Amino acid sequence: MSKLTDLTIKELNIGYDKKEFKASEVTEAYLKNIDASSNLNAYITVTADEAMAQSKLSDERIGKGSRLSKMDGVPIGVKDLFCTKDIRTTAASHILDDFVPPYESTVTSQLLTAGSIFLGKTNLDEFAMGGANLTSYFGEAINPIKRATDNKEVVTGGSSGGSAASVAGGLAAGSLGTDTGGSIRQPAAFTGIVGLKPTYGRCSRFGIIAYASSLDQAGPMCKTVEDTAIMLNHMAGFDENDSTSVDIAVPDFTNGICDGVKGMKIGIPKELLNENIDKDIEQSWKDKAVRILKDAGAEIVEISLPNLKYALATYYILAPAEASSNLARYDGVRFGLRVDGDTLDDMYLNTRTAGFGEEVKRRIMVGTYVLSAGYYDAYYLKALKVQKLIRQDYLNVFKDVDLIMTPTTPMPAFTVEESKSFDPITMYLQDIFTVPINLARLPAISVPIALSSTEKLPIGIQLVGRDFDEATILKAAKVIEGAK
Ligand code: GLN
Repeated sequence: MSKLTDLTIKELNIGYDKKEFKASEVTEAYLKNIDASSNLNAYITVTADEAMAQSKLSDERIGKGSRLSKMDGVPIGVKDLFCTKDIRTTAASHILDDFVPPYESTVTSQLLTAGSIFLGKTNLDEFAMGGANLTSYFGEAINPIKRATDNKEVVTGGSSGGSAASVAGGLAAGSLGTDTGGSIRQPAAFTGIVGLKPTYGRCSRFGIIAYASSLDQAGPMCKTVEDTAIMLNHMAGFDENDSTSVDIAVPDFTNGICDGVKGMKIGIPKELLNENIDKDIEQSWKDKAVRILKDAGAEIVEISLPNLKYALATYYILAPAEASSNLARYDGVRFGLRVDGDTLDDMYLNTRTAGFGEEVKRRIMVGTYVLSAGYYDAYYLKALKVQKLIRQDYLNVFKDVDLIMTPTTPMPAFTVEESKSFDPITMYLQDIFTVPINLARLPAISVPIALSSTEKLPIGIQLVGRDFDEATILKAAKVIEGAK
């Protein structure tokens, strides 16, 4: 039998049903790996005692043949942006580094009810702002996969870098991420795992520390497409605590997942054909993925998304605008860090100066600027209008095609040193393929397709679907996964 921590969620289920091993053994094995791989900095907080206690309860249920769900006994990592009751939740920020929430987020509570075991809280970019997990107050997460040419460590991607590293490095069977502009899909691509951003409104945002509320969505990060479907089954659903959660039926996403793509029409946006994309990524998208899907019976067509070119600029107006408003609550008064001063204003200033990192401050300033009187109409309102046009482009295309396929990222993972030469705009350009999807509120997955030719770093393909049609995305992703 393979190592317990190599098993997929599906394989854990088979093992539990046959009583081949116990949830406590699996949990122990993961905790050992976490200890041994602390250099990856995947976790900010490891909750070993709680995990062992939860696993003993799973053991009992498995023993009695009364498992709660397919997530019962499955040890997972939780991005440290989800509030977890009585467990420190930091958003990877100094301003919240000793914040212990008195309540549980809806998604984590659903997973606990399903019997999942929480190994701990995973690392991320501060307040989920970043694309390489380099802005964390707790230091960067490290990609378990090294660059083959010089054996150098590379970044995990971000912001859900710790969640990605935990799954890729054998430190969790699956992990929870959030995605505002690509934070599930991009790190999934960089670490060679599967990451799904559900349709906006599919999973509750209640209890997730807000970055840009109109774009934030929770999603699963897993070793396989089928595991992703299993996990999503226990995260999705209407929640009256989230006013943007949508009351729509949640199918069993594992149903029909092996049905293939025969007869599906898949669009390739012509606007991206001449983008500045890494050669290996371009080839795995235009050649390999197209061939795999065609061989499996799909029709590939060229489509047009004329407003796509405005997506990145639009995102980097809207997301900071919302962030500047959301982060106004960290004022040293109600919770989190407080650095005193002579006056109330000094206290605000000292607290926020000490509590926030550079990238977060940059976004607060940009956001405050675009929302200020005089600029609100010119920037914020205009960006909202462009966002509508971008979504409309997708809706038009989806009258004709079932899915849209693009690369997940323009380049594979880079080293920390390389990133130091990036200015903020270069880092923002990493999100070129992922942010339009958040603006359009659509669901999308990143599925591994290849390794780059010389550096042997993972490459991901992005599949985008219609509103609430995660099921079709999963089917096509399964075909790509199976063809490797
Ligand atoms: N890299 C993007 C940003 O920094 C996306 C982050 C995210 O999805 N949370 O905004």
